[in-house]
Formats: sequence, structure tokens, C-alpha cells
Amino acid sequence: MKANKHDSCIEQISHGAELSMGLRRKLSLASERLNEAVEIEEIQSIGVMCRETLIELIDYVYDSDSFDGEEKFKKSDVKNRGELVINKYITGSENAELRKNMKNLLNGVWDYSNIITHSSSKTKHEASICLTITVALVSSFENLLNKYFDPIAGLKCKECGSRRLIVAENDETEDLLIICENCQHGFIKE
Ligand SMILES: [Zn+2]
Repeated sequence: MKANKHDSCIEQISHGAELSMGLRRKLSLASERLNEAVEIEEIQSIGVMCRETLIELIDYVYDSDSFDGEEKFKKSDVKNRGELVINKYITGSENAELRKNMKNLLNGVWDYSNIITHSSSKTKHEASICLTITVALVSSFENLLNKYFDPIAGLKCKECGSRRLIVAENDETEDLLIICENCQHGFIKE
């Protein structure tokens, strides 16, 4: 049996910000199970694991304090909770397309993992697709969080236009001092 083909895919998740270890463990386990899966119950169990991964993913990024005034959704209501999360982390009209795509991706992966969970005619190949798109979704959320928490994402030097920026120590105020590595120009992030 060859090595888990999803493992390198899952490995990509470790780039950048740490996402929940529990999520990575679940995806690795699903990958192992997929390699051995033959019977329909074993195929269905891949769908179940993808489903659980999605619930855990959204729960992991769902910050209930941010959604105080909002309707309370059940933990398993991945679509509605996911929409709140996506609206929080992707803001602005310039990101409308990304917001829409992330919602479509989330809803599509959720629906498909439910199909795999309940179908009695799907094969290992569909289960593999299900796991692949689940990994892609988890990875996309990780990138989303990286962008959200990256203090210099989208900034450029006001002097030379370079994006080679670093956050410098600022002893005087709490504000972020950004230095351009290209021209050494320093400025405070507004
Ligand atoms: Zn510069």
C-alpha cells in the first residue's frame, strides 16, 4: 500500500498559523481510514469524519463574543455559523467575491460530506474527493486567519511602494511602526 496520498496535502496545513491540532489529527485519521476503506460503511465513515472536521473548524474560528447580537445557531449549523465567521474575517466591498467564494466552498464541502455520509452507492474515489476538498477548505480558513491577523497584509511603503515591510519595535506608543526594507522609510500604521 502506498503512503497516504493526502498526507502531503494535509502537511500544507501546517504552513503559517497553527490551526487546531485536533483538526489535523482528524484529517490524518480520515486519510488513513480512506486507504483501507472498502465496505460502504467504511466509505460513509469518511464522510462522517469530514463532517465532524467542518463542525470543529467552524467552532474553532467561531468567536461567540463577536456575534452577541446575532441569532444563536447550533454548533452543527455549519452553514449559518460559517457565514457569520466569513463575514467577520472577510470585510469590505473589495472582498465581496472572496466572501462569496468562501461561502460557496464551505456550503459545497458541507453538502458533499453529508452526501458521502448517507449514500450507499459512493466509492472510495468520491470519498477521496470529499476529503480533498475538506483539506482545501481547512487550509483556506487558515489562510484567511493569517490575512486577518497579519498587521502588514495589503500595506505598501508610502515612499517607494514596496511591500517589503517589517513591523519594528515602537517604544513610544502602542501604534505599529512599519519600516520599509527597500528604502528604510518608517511610518505608523493608521
Ligand atoms: Zn519604501
